[in-house]
Amino acid sequence: MSNVLSSNVGYPRIGGNREWKKELEKFWDGKITEEELLNNTKAIRLEGLKKQKEKGIDLIPVGDFSLYDHVLDTSVLFDVIPKRFQENADSRTPLETYFAIARGTKDAVASEMTKWFNTNYHYIVPEFNESKPALKENRPLFFYKETKEELGIEGKPVILGPITFIKLGKGYEEKEFPELVSEFRPLYIQLLQELKEAGVTWVQLDEPIFSTSLSETDLQQAKQIYEAISEEVPGINVIIQTYFETVDAYEEIVNLPAAAIGLDFVHGNSLELLQKYGFPKDKYLAAGVIDGRNVWRHDLNEKLGLLESISRFVDKKNIIVQPSCSLLHVPVTKEGETALDPVIKNALSFADEKLAETALLKRGLESEKESIKKEIEESITAIRTLNDSKYRKPTKGTVKINELKADRGLPFNERIVSQKEKLQLPLLPTTTIGSLPQTPEVRKQRLKWRKGEITNQEYDQYIKSEIEKWIAIQEEIGLDVLVHGEFERTDMVEYFGEKLNGFLVTKFGWVQSYGSRCVKPPIIFGDVSFDQPMTVKESVYAQSLTDKRVKGMLTGPVTILNWSFVRDDISRFDVLDQIAAALRSEIEELEKNGINIIQVDEPALREGLPLKEDKWKEYLDRAVHAFRLATASVENSTQIHTHMCYSDFEDIFEAIRALDADVISIETSRSHGELISAFEENTYDKEIGLGVYDIHSPRVPSTEEIKDNVTRALKTIPANQFWINPDCGLKTRKEEETIAALKNMVEAAKEVREAQ
Ligand code: GLN
Ligand code: ZN
Repeated sequence: MSNVLSSNVGYPRIGGNREWKKELEKFWDGKITEEELLNNTKAIRLEGLKKQKEKGIDLIPVGDFSLYDHVLDTSVLFDVIPKRFQENADSRTPLETYFAIARGTKDAVASEMTKWFNTNYHYIVPEFNESKPALKENRPLFFYKETKEELGIEGKPVILGPITFIKLGKGYEEKEFPELVSEFRPLYIQLLQELKEAGVTWVQLDEPIFSTSLSETDLQQAKQIYEAISEEVPGINVIIQTYFETVDAYEEIVNLPAAAIGLDFVHGNSLELLQKYGFPKDKYLAAGVIDGRNVWRHDLNEKLGLLESISRFVDKKNIIVQPSCSLLHVPVTKEGETALDPVIKNALSFADEKLAETALLKRGLESEKESIKKEIEESITAIRTLNDSKYRKPTKGTVKINELKADRGLPFNERIVSQKEKLQLPLLPTTTIGSLPQTPEVRKQRLKWRKGEITNQEYDQYIKSEIEKWIAIQEEIGLDVLVHGEFERTDMVEYFGEKLNGFLVTKFGWVQSYGSRCVKPPIIFGDVSFDQPMTVKESVYAQSLTDKRVKGMLTGPVTILNWSFVRDDISRFDVLDQIAAALRSEIEELEKNGINIIQVDEPALREGLPLKEDKWKEYLDRAVHAFRLATASVENSTQIHTHMCYSDFEDIFEAIRALDADVISIETSRSHGELISAFEENTYDKEIGLGVYDIHSPRVPSTEEIKDNVTRALKTIPANQFWINPDCGLKTRKEEETIAALKNMVEAAKEVREAQ
């Protein structure tokens, strides 16, 4: 029997019941002290570590825990603190400064936040131009010691690797990259030296950037820094960990000097490359065979087969069995999901269950397959039972998708004429993105309703009263196109997941999205289809209260797909088409009921881009097709809007155009004007609303400031194509600040209009 190791790449921070989120928010609200926050989150952390041990994991990650974001942790670890947060730093504790960078203060805007590779996790972008890096407090060491003292576990510190860390940051030019790597080299070395002296044997340096398209210089730099590390810090086992895709330059990467290379064997074609190019004899291969991005249980026989194939190229004793990436991206455990039919529950696997699968595979690989025979059979039965069940049979709303037209018929310049005639909007129309403040009262009522403390009727009545209140407020403010406010929605994907066929919604299936914000992605288990109208009641009610236009509000097919956990027995693109067809029915219902402006949000379009550029075209084609499938059946005079946030547009401009939406609204504040320049370089002939103020901060923007933003945008975009709206939905804002900001926005619009 050879000794195979099991490992984990990272564990959810949030606790089984989002305890972590609650602690953070209590602290931000001044309800607990910093000491209490640290103690309470330590308990959550230790709990997670203990569980990993119990599940049978040999190499347990430490330091992957964070109080906000691991990229921000790395910035702070190396003292990469933007100047605006260094001022007055004495009046704050280091932790307060840490949160200030992430969340902003009244004098300093927060650092930019953006998507972590192709996930729905957001990281805080490092700003390298303003400070000289230095190794501050060695946090990974702190976590290592804590884990050893408290639990007797020899943890594996996890640190963001230098190439990925620097590449994800901004504030330098491409040509300065090598210099920056040199600057960090001694710091990484010192960090690792200190770990080694403290007795650390394994350390994981995360380099997911290796799974994207790398330049020659990037590779060169990677080689240099890892060579330096291996020379200066011999005797510590460095795992260079990649994930989310196959590495770009397989041969170079696997030959980097390190004890182990971690590869993703779920996404991409790592096995093929291994078969073709082999693997260095003197290295461990950390084989990510358990899907860290999805929630389905694996067929252990198939996974063991994969490991056996790997073992033809790598000695078993050099194989480390592990998930494909950090389990940050899946919920903690399915244990509490008592309301699920066992047929489905048995086929699910969240973080804790994935660790159990990992440990079993390790056992299966090191001894005989026989040793996990029972578990293999159980896994096969669980999957087969689901596949044979009613959940995987076509549902009643299923339509023949390939018979649906995905084309509006008339081109935009002709459609817009009938739209203008029908809608009669002023120049530079004002609107919002959809959601209005979800006050504690809204959340309280929803919770009461969920617990059965108020009836459906009482809840509906309450939602209606909010809609009524806000229609009046919007009229009073003087907005041109109103919204109903989305008070009935907790989350823009979960809400639809609860109403469409083929989806299920869990009780505790939370994953971190950004900061303390967690989302509960619905799970698509079967064929998706339209069951009943989902948004019609609210939109129609809102419209009945006003002579202004009310904009219908839906989440688009691509976003629903990307923010759900998707069944893995059929192609994702087929699931996408099913969602699109279902939304098409909803849009038709809205139109039938007199809603003539319909917004179909696609904030997740860009994040779904595959990491490898050669797969972009297929994705974008299918995404565009799905959007059009959903929206193409309306009359020419019905106006289709879409909305996107955090979109870095340059490279998807063609696709944005191809969506053929009549109006698009985009967030601009946090990407600091870069977007407008995208429009300078690309002509865009349809209507567009570039967010004119940032909704992520409680600050109320002045009329002047908004006017400036509008005027700047109008230098690039003709006024008769331009809409005036905030950056994104307002659900996280307070009522007073929202009203004040929107008043200023409407005033700004008026003034600019008059000056036209
Ligand atoms: N209509 C949604 C809202 O306003 C859009 C949210 C988003 O872009 N993420 O909340
Ligand atoms: Zn948005």
